[in-house]
Amino acid sequence: MKKTLKIRKLLCMLSVCIIFIVSNSFIYEQIQINADDIPAGALPEDFELIEDEDLLTDEELKDHGEVDAEETFTLDDVMKSDFSAVAEEEELPKDGEIQLDSFDENDWKIVLINKQHSIPEDYEFTLGTISTSKGSMKCDERIIPELQQMMQAAKDDGVTLVICSPYRDYERQIYLFNRKIKAYMKQQMSYLEAYRVTAQAVTVPGASEHQIGLALDIVTNTYQSLNEGFEDTDAGKWLAKHSYEYGFILRYPKGKEDITGISYEPWHFRYVGKAAAKYMYDHEMTL
Ligand SMILES: [Zn+2]
Repeated sequence: MKKTLKIRKLLCMLSVCIIFIVSNSFIYEQIQINADDIPAGALPEDFELIEDEDLLTDEELKDHGEVDAEETFTLDDVMKSDFSAVAEEEELPKDGEIQLDSFDENDWKIVLINKQHSIPEDYEFTLGTISTSKGSMKCDERIIPELQQMMQAAKDDGVTLVICSPYRDYERQIYLFNRKIKAYMKQQMSYLEAYRVTAQAVTVPGASEHQIGLALDIVTNTYQSLNEGFEDTDAGKWLAKHSYEYGFILRYPKGKEDITGISYEPWHFRYVGKAAAKYMYDHEMTL
């Protein structure tokens, strides 16, 4: 009788222990997820949900957004630009000519901007403006000559490249980010969950290469959705193969999500200069 009581007591204590351990590990996991979700300093102080009714539809959420026709620019548009280019002409290096240690991490061409590295406060650049009847397109003016060369070369190969949303200012980035969060919250997600999913698709404000004019979203005349299907278009294939020859890299490649922290985006290109672009292309690296 005494023995069974002892065993019962022991079992009771054991189950309390197990419950304690299990619940604790659960809390630990929760804390870990939270910390990953919101990197320190990622949220600007003035970050707040913007009230707007211009929400993405379910279809758009699936497609990562349809391109706004008024914000697209063709080769003809880009050729008309009145930039005062200052870019020094860079030759595409030959095979094996470049070493990793020849790159200077302070070089503007390879400046790293992401969730962990927001835009330095003293970062300076000149916006080049390409004006058309539809509107104006802006990007760092130093990349315009090579952008023109790339679009012309694609055209020579029978491929039409169309540029969309090159430069985004901080307000625009916040607007896009909030809009996405809100759309997800409408689908019964919590704010935190919506934030996490949004941060995968839309870059956190202050952490976008679009804000320093070095990133371009590129589509084609017959396919203007920013989604994975772009990789199968002639333009998607041409860019994946040739963009490095003009100093541009596919910034968020498939299979590198753990490094970039961003889902695969076959339409998003980043200017890094010809030497870095060739090095990264040859070594299947990302920034
Ligand atoms: Zn982009």
